[in-house]
Amino acid sequence: MSIVYFPIIGLEVHVQLKTKTKIFCGCSADYSGDEPNSHICPVCMGLPGTLPVFNKHVAEQAIKGGLALNCKIHESAYFSRKAYYYADMTKNFQISQDDLPIAYDGYIELIGENSSVKRVRINRLHIEEDVGKLSHGASDGRLEGSTYSNVDYNRAGMPLAEIVSEPDISSAREALDYAMMLRRIMRYCEASDADMEKGMMRFDANVSVKCSDGRSSKRVEVKNMNSFRALERAIDYEIKRHIEMLERGEEGIKETRHWNDATNSTSASRVRETRYKFIMEPDLPALRVAREWVEKVREELPEMPKQKWDRFRTGYGLSAVDAGVLTESPDIADYFESCVKSGANPLRTNNWVRTEVLRVINDASSNSTWQNFPVKPESLAELLIRIDEGKFSTTLAKQIFDLMCGGKNIMEAVNETGAPEGGVSEDKLNQAVRKILEANQDVIEEMKSCENTSGKKVRYLQGLIIRELKGQVKPDEAERALKKQLSLL
Ligand code: ZN
Ligand code: MN
Repeated sequence: MSIVYFPIIGLEVHVQLKTKTKIFCGCSADYSGDEPNSHICPVCMGLPGTLPVFNKHVAEQAIKGGLALNCKIHESAYFSRKAYYYADMTKNFQISQDDLPIAYDGYIELIGENSSVKRVRINRLHIEEDVGKLSHGASDGRLEGSTYSNVDYNRAGMPLAEIVSEPDISSAREALDYAMMLRRIMRYCEASDADMEKGMMRFDANVSVKCSDGRSSKRVEVKNMNSFRALERAIDYEIKRHIEMLERGEEGIKETRHWNDATNSTSASRVRETRYKFIMEPDLPALRVAREWVEKVREELPEMPKQKWDRFRTGYGLSAVDAGVLTESPDIADYFESCVKSGANPLRTNNWVRTEVLRVINDASSNSTWQNFPVKPESLAELLIRIDEGKFSTTLAKQIFDLMCGGKNIMEAVNETGAPEGGVSEDKLNQAVRKILEANQDVIEEMKSCENTSGKKVRYLQGLIIRELKGQVKPDEAERALKKQLSLL
């Protein structure tokens, strides 16, 4: 009997909470792109004699994130010092939360194939401070080959939420789904911008593999994944490595490993695994979280992605995949709904938003964002309603849409295509029909000899006429003119 392997994966995700200032001092949190060490002060540098002062907004953001992840909120939480001896943290400890995190016992719902829903339990969400950023060797190459490192403390003291899942994840693909849904939730509730490029979301993964014969490999913690791609590949790599070990009859060792993007592999960390030691943070009071505060934050939470996804499917009859795309961000969801509320058909709106609108938004050269997109949802609705009324063909509507993307309003765009509301003149239409019929004598002969396929042929000729007139004729008018001339033949 062949052995079956079951990967067991848990994720620890660090998410930067969105605040104006750092967690324990008044330094600006908006340091992106600024000179190294330009957003620092004695407190976030951990100089002797300084005292941390807790930024209340960090707690509010953590409560928001916790509630959005269906967590319970502790009424009192406190801070601990985690022994941390490394150059990116001058204090030699990191202020974190140990056995009383602010939020605990939640879950994320993942949407799988066939709209199946899987719950991944969240063990906890705790608050901690970020450390600085080390880079090894100077960027100008001056120190290449030397043992120098550079350190930038702008990030030191930035507020983080560390979100720890239970080991409920069973593949690299599922870990990716979890991470993407977590990012979506953090953005929806505005606890974090979760911008991967700015390092606002970082992953550690705990991986082991269980065999159907009862054996399992020792759990490893893989660190240093800063992108979705790295997360998926690192977990894939570890699962394969564990299965190979088990096939050799080995179980491996419990260790910390580092993912290396360049070599596409993990390697054992040179630092020996030590259990971090915590002591109570004596310079900060316990955090008392009033129930009324939690309830107020809960009331202000917007609709979450899973709820929106459910509502879009049942309310608008969208497929699971379409509803997934349209709830990717609150912006796209709002655009879609405003368009529908202005009277457009939901399915047609879905098609247009997913193809035409996203094509322009995703085209970097268009410099379009949801905020500055030139075609407001109300205007798109106007256009789509006219397609449904048979006033514009889809081809013509797309030309009009492109002109609207260039800043024209719908009337200006219609006029520019040379297709005033009434479409082309009767003469021009009949001329086009004659031209198409002359060029397609063979089709007409076939129609005469075989009545079964004549409906199909009429649609084919109708399509040629619409194309001949560059989409400036309503489909039903093209059909009427065509049938009229056909019966005269
Ligand atoms: Zn500071
Ligand atoms: Mn941490």
